[in-house]
Amino acid sequence: MDAHAGGERSSSDGDAAAGSTSESTSASESALETARRQLDRAAGYLELDPNVVERLHHPTKVEEVTIPVERDDGTVEVFTGYRAQHDSVNGPYKGGLRYHPDVTRDECVGLAMWMTWKCAVMGLPFGGAKGGIAVDPKQLSGDEKERLTRRFTQEIRGIIGPTRDIPAPDMGTDAQTMAWLMDAYSMQEAETIPGVVTGKPPIIGGSEGREEAPGRSVAIVAREACAYDDRSLTETTVAVQGYGSVGANAARQLDEWGASVVAISDVNGAMYDPDGIDVASVPSHDEEPEAVTRYADTVISNDDLLELDVDVLIPAAIGNVITTENADEVRAPIIVEGANGPVTSGADEMLAERDVAVIPDILANAGGVTVSYFEWLQDINRRSWSLDRVNEELETEMLEAWRAVRHTFDERDLTWREAAYIVALSRVAAAHEARGLWP
Ligand code: GLU
Repeated sequence: MDAHAGGERSSSDGDAAAGSTSESTSASESALETARRQLDRAAGYLELDPNVVERLHHPTKVEEVTIPVERDDGTVEVFTGYRAQHDSVNGPYKGGLRYHPDVTRDECVGLAMWMTWKCAVMGLPFGGAKGGIAVDPKQLSGDEKERLTRRFTQEIRGIIGPTRDIPAPDMGTDAQTMAWLMDAYSMQEAETIPGVVTGKPPIIGGSEGREEAPGRSVAIVAREACAYDDRSLTETTVAVQGYGSVGANAARQLDEWGASVVAISDVNGAMYDPDGIDVASVPSHDEEPEAVTRYADTVISNDDLLELDVDVLIPAAIGNVITTENADEVRAPIIVEGANGPVTSGADEMLAERDVAVIPDILANAGGVTVSYFEWLQDINRRSWSLDRVNEELETEMLEAWRAVRHTFDERDLTWREAAYIVALSRVAAAHEARGLWP
């Protein structure tokens, strides 16, 4: 496994927005290959118009831009950025913006496809997009990051907008990045347009609870998965890989609900305590970067964390951490995907053979984009919601999506991932069939 699992993150939005989560792009299977394979698999269960499925294999548009940036020393460096728009049959394109050295065109397309399914499984009036810049944000000063973001915004200005395509935080980007994007866009349009991005600071139209939302949805889904298995949360042990916004918020919420979180980790390794960790007292990556092992009495590796004998395993760090190499060593009967794509397709099959319940990313971490939707509504109406209202409505939306997926899971002999994809794909395909192809 990637030795850096659990720590490679710097965005504030866990799932990529999840700032805490990131999908490794260096792994053997690309996000696009996985996304296409998952689409075909789900399509195989449904009687869909093959022409619609063929359309969904391809993005509507991928904008590739070069971004010249003046470094602090006066030299100019040129970066490459992308915005992939996969599908908009149900509404504006929606998805994060990542700053990471491994960002490629194909990765953005694959991640944009996942956003299409994520929005569809949640029943949100959005389509799927993803963008990014191939850059290591840790190598940039704050001023350089600001210039990079503003110039990138200018380059993609023609294809984004509150009714066209709405970016959000992802790996390597955060609320401040979104504030620069909103400002650059608004200055050019000569009016303040908060709805062009989500995940902004609340003072300029961001939503309360947006930052915590992906972790919160992971916790809600973990709670429901335990209930489905007749496990009482108070007797449930949990291991969380990654202690960024997704991992830390999920761990703290589950702890509050009575579960025992026995392991948490960051890039340096994992803290393990079979009697349960007081997760509130361990700073998340955002609060104090890479602090987990400094607070630990017993440190184990990120690899060992994945193989702990726990009830629920939450990989909330990077992608492709559960592979054909270690899938048989995973002992948890329930895996809840906090990161995007932490389980490879090969591992997925091995886990399915052993009846391990893998609750997929497109459902589990969808709290992020769901609260992005709430933020967008608040921006349009110029009226903010209280944190209580955000959390209540998030709970309602998550339960509704969970029930739809559970219904499909119960009806057919499938994995949770297949059930979620079937729910999502059947909605998107039905909308395409109703609208038709024109011209
Ligand atoms: N980047 C996040 C994700 O992968 C959130 C996207 C959004 O809020 O638009 O789900």
